[in-house]
Amino acid sequence: MSTSLLIEQMTIREASRLLSEKQVSSVELTQAVLESIRQKDGEIQAYLTVDEEKSLARARAADEARANGADGDLLGVPVAVKDLINVQGDPCTCASKILSGYTSLYDATVIARLRKDGAVFTGRTNMDEFAMGSSTEHSAYQTTRNPKDLSRVPGGSSGGSAAAVAGGEAIAALGTDTGGSVRQPAAFCGCVGVKPSYGRVSRYGVTAFASSLDQVGPMTKTVEDAAILLQSIAGHDPHDGTTLNEPVPDYLAAVRNASLTGLRIGLPKEYYIDGTDPEVMASIRKAIETCEKAGAEIVDVTLPHTEYAIAVYYIVATAEASANLARFDGVRYGHRAAEPGSVFDLYAKSRAEGFGTEVKRRIILGTYVLSSGYYDAYYGRAQKVRTLIRRDFETAFGQCDVLLTPVAPTAAYRIGEAANDPLKMYLGDVFTVPASLAGLCGASLPCGTTAAGLPIGVQFLAAPFREETLFRASQGFVLASGN
Ligand code: GLN
Repeated sequence: MSTSLLIEQMTIREASRLLSEKQVSSVELTQAVLESIRQKDGEIQAYLTVDEEKSLARARAADEARANGADGDLLGVPVAVKDLINVQGDPCTCASKILSGYTSLYDATVIARLRKDGAVFTGRTNMDEFAMGSSTEHSAYQTTRNPKDLSRVPGGSSGGSAAAVAGGEAIAALGTDTGGSVRQPAAFCGCVGVKPSYGRVSRYGVTAFASSLDQVGPMTKTVEDAAILLQSIAGHDPHDGTTLNEPVPDYLAAVRNASLTGLRIGLPKEYYIDGTDPEVMASIRKAIETCEKAGAEIVDVTLPHTEYAIAVYYIVATAEASANLARFDGVRYGHRAAEPGSVFDLYAKSRAEGFGTEVKRRIILGTYVLSSGYYDAYYGRAQKVRTLIRRDFETAFGQCDVLLTPVAPTAAYRIGEAANDPLKMYLGDVFTVPASLAGLCGASLPCGTTAAGLPIGVQFLAAPFREETLFRASQGFVLASGN
């Protein structure tokens, strides 16, 4: 078996079995991942940086721990990390020139937790600059290609993580999802992506884009692997006051007990409208049939404020981003312009040189919607409509356990096709942003391919903090569809 084949199929579950049966060491496993990266990343360009020495040192430590009797699903398992999550001593550029050369001073809580469980961090994955985008084309450094068709985008903003997992360059990865950035790239590349409920996972040490929406989520080959990663990273964190202070349920048990029998699956009529690619819709219809045959009850529901979600999201997210990105000023972090004429000039030049076009667009938009005179008309109003969107979901979840929808209106598009048309790209987020605004948890699972072989994803959504239901439904669907 060639090394690349090994990593292409390797899951966390399988890796941990091989490790605990001593059939393979963490060093061997990590070497296999690094070898796959060497072979494939020239073409796919999923990684921004890989530090082989450091990865192997982490693997050696995991092997030693196992030799001393330690065990665990993640002990010695290599994991790739999106380049906006801080890993102490590693670069963290957020795919932006403004953070070029920046090294993290501390571990994000999700990293500290994975580290405690013995995961081996192998490299930093590419993304849209500061997670703003849906195709990873807004990276300041490189264009990641979809491993299933190199002429196409991997989705975004966690496109590097998705491409690494789907392209056989990682066993599993972390991404972040503000308005769809875990779910949509998972769908475009054909892997599993889970966005936890807002407040389930700590944002401490995760570079902020839109603080009321951001969540870290697993990107994996199986639902079970996503449960393993979420089990490790979830839970209350004193460093993040928005995390829920309650015990984390047993997600692996939810996966083991998965079944669709008696599960009420809601189909929101606003998500089944013209405009979605017919091949995508055909796969979604097939997924619904599969669920029904497996004993699920299909219910029609309505989310009447869906049509406002994109507008609300692009007001709230840009407003928060404009405030969060104020810290990149040439003084405290990152790039500083040479020979500024004044302090104002230092800020202006450093930011003009450091940020890319999409980030600037959003800072300008966000500053505008927050400015006095426009605040009430835009930001204040958007917050009110956000409440209506959340209430729509509350009502719907009175009638069903999960919702089933497409992840995106199309499969992966060609590189360059939407890059210069921001509105077109924003509209592609129509099925993912409403759940983000409402703080729901959601999963994206492969559910078929187009005639050209491009992956199609189905989205399951569950009420806030109902990840167990989400895992039950997701794994139930995988088992029923034989995927
Ligand atoms: N595509 C959305 C945006 O550009 C979502 C990004 C994200 O989830 N980070 O804002």
